[in-house]
Amino acid sequence: MTTLREILTSGERSFSFEFFPPKTDAGTRTLWGAIRRIEALRPTFVSVTYGAGGSSRDRTVAVTERIAAETTLRPVAHLTAVGHSVAELRNIIGRYADAGVRDVLALRGDPPGDPGAPWTPHPQGFTHAHQLVSLVKEMGDFSVGVAAFPEKHPRSPDWDSDIRHFVAKCKAGADYAITQMFFHVEDYLRLRDKVSAAGCDTPIIPEIMPATDARQIARFAELSGAAFPEDLARRLEAARGNPAAGHRIGVDHATAMAERLLAEGAPGLHYITLNKSTATLDIHRSIQSTQTPRSAQHVLATHR
Ligand code: FAD
Repeated sequence: MTTLREILTSGERSFSFEFFPPKTDAGTRTLWGAIRRIEALRPTFVSVTYGAGGSSRDRTVAVTERIAAETTLRPVAHLTAVGHSVAELRNIIGRYADAGVRDVLALRGDPPGDPGAPWTPHPQGFTHAHQLVSLVKEMGDFSVGVAAFPEKHPRSPDWDSDIRHFVAKCKAGADYAITQMFFHVEDYLRLRDKVSAAGCDTPIIPEIMPATDARQIARFAELSGAAFPEDLARRLEAARGNPAAGHRIGVDHATAMAERLLAEGAPGLHYITLNKSTATLDIHRSIQSTQTPRSAQHVLATHR
């Protein structure tokens, strides 16, 4: 099978969608509806996030295994070092290998409950993501992705150390990176230029998060620390209580960003779906209609 790095460096544009493991039966039905709609588009890959602890982690593994077994999609399994010994991490990676999952997004993770709390590694675990990258690579023929931060990681004291540690993850074997959500294209371009100036050519896929509701803004800031454009915040505020208007505003903003990112040479787009495909599919349709036609074009047209 062609690796993600081969696809990302071939000049072919990648497009991918991110899901999270649902907690309820209704959530599972919603997720699988979205997965089936997205499967019809033949994306490059889909990814499933890894929870902070307990049962959500088992659900991540179960959803990822089911995607591998029951769909034509390429699943990328997110995995974090939070609360895991190296032996436990080996066990999870082994389960993925048994299920035919060959793609892992290797992350350090944050303390459960409060992402800003001091980081304490498991006594038999890892301190930083580059160690997890090395472990996954050692354990088999995996393609490994890592996280990248267009506004630098909130814990990084300066850009120099942020870029140095990012490059260390690449040297440990990362094949590609996916960014944190961001809302200003310049932030992505600055990160890409800094990584390139450090002599690192690992492809960096920008993450696209459509903001369609003013109530999401505080949550975004808490999760990512990403600076939110004032103008977009004002327009979403004005559309409070009018979901259709909020949807249109968020989709238009994300589409304009996505178009510019591709025009600037980004190797693809990674869409956050929040398990509902609607906003991301609208963005994707707009992008496809203005970019070079691909095989997905036909499927998009029949899916309206
Ligand atoms: P690291 O690369 O270890 O970096 C963390 C901090 O440590 C940075 O400031 C870095 O500069 C610094 N650092 C790195 N190496 C060293 C070193 N050797 N010495 C000193 N400092 C160092 N979280 C989840 O819980 N589940 C998910 O599914 C998930 N998915 C994500 C997907 C994407 C695309 C992104 C961007 C993030 C995701 N996260 C997820 C969040 C992520 O786990 C956190 O942002 C976490 O704080 C950083 O993880 P990392 O892998 O970048 O860590």
